[in-house]
Amino acid sequence: PSSAVAPQAEAVIDLDAVAHNIRILNEHAGDASVMAVVKADAYSHGAVPVARAALAAGARELGVATLEEGLELKHAGITAPVLSWLHTSDADYAPAITAGVELGLSSPRHLAAVVDAARRVGETATVSVKIETGLNRNGVSHEEWDDFLVDLARAEAERAIRVKGMFSHLAHADEPHHPVIDDQCERFTRALDDAKHAGLVPEAAHMANSAATLTRTDLRFEMVRPGIAIYGLSPVPRMGTFDLRPVMTFRSRVALVKKVAAGEGVSYGHTWIAPHDTIVALLPVGYADGIPRALSGRFDVWLGDDRRPGIGRVSMDQVVVDLGPDGAGVREGDIAVFFGNGERGVPHAQEWAEALDTIHYEVVTSVRGRTVRTFV
Ligand code: PLP
Repeated sequence: PSSAVAPQAEAVIDLDAVAHNIRILNEHAGDASVMAVVKADAYSHGAVPVARAALAAGARELGVATLEEGLELKHAGITAPVLSWLHTSDADYAPAITAGVELGLSSPRHLAAVVDAARRVGETATVSVKIETGLNRNGVSHEEWDDFLVDLARAEAERAIRVKGMFSHLAHADEPHHPVIDDQCERFTRALDDAKHAGLVPEAAHMANSAATLTRTDLRFEMVRPGIAIYGLSPVPRMGTFDLRPVMTFRSRVALVKKVAAGEGVSYGHTWIAPHDTIVALLPVGYADGIPRALSGRFDVWLGDDRRPGIGRVSMDQVVVDLGPDGAGVREGDIAVFFGNGERGVPHAQEWAEALDTIHYEVVTSVRGRTVRTFV
């Protein structure tokens, strides 16, 4: 009966799995607290429901990239700390400060903009400083550091800001023994010392993403900042699952079952020709919804209690699956899983990542378009 009402393209989000994964991360975090990274709409899993589930399971804070993402969480009534760290330095920080979104500072220009906005609204902005330690993306650079600390201490003395944290992001976290990790850690620790000498004593330093949280307990500091592991995907697949449970099941329902005669081609360009009379199933999900066209002919779906090969080109709205000459008892309306928990032969997002020469982060964040999320 549930299949009769399921959407054509559906991402089923298992919030119990989120809770399980947060517990695993909390175990690895030891005394450090967990900031659950829910940017990009919780890696396409749904920011607000995932944030709530993560907090209920023991995450203490939330992390996002943009100001809009931070505001979305605050407007949903979430009272836990939310840190947003990726902005242009001409951003209007006033609404975020008023809403209580904590701000990551990436440069002296960002500091000036936040101080200016805080004065305008007459409030103290809570900030965390992103320190450049070697990734060479956003973060206050070494050359700027000494002067930046002077300005930071002054702004704190004037109560325009409160410096709550200092953080950095790793370049090689998925290679736990890479020497650059130690380099970055050393630079980070030195920067923290400088801050201390400048009279700044932030309550939390943090640099560990999922991979570092699970493989480098020496990088815990006071907080860890996992993202992908919350969604149940191993940050270092070659090292195993870390007992994480995949959260998203991407699935569809069979729109049509039909016969295809031997020698007939299927889908655009006829890249697949029926080797014998067969029965195929049409699934109404395509590249507009998150099945990359590059996956054409290189994926299986779980349908009728077995894996079935996707055949022919993935098109904008549909894919076709070969059921074999007897049709395997598959009927219109049956549920087909593109990827899910990986158990019993159900495909896993990592399979798509390998077929596409990418990472599972991109696989799950590509689920979009007409896909309806269902939270269980
Ligand atoms: N911290 C920062 C600054 C990030 O940009 C991200 C995501 O890339 C994370 C933490 C979480 O990383 P991961 O999903 O690898 O755990």
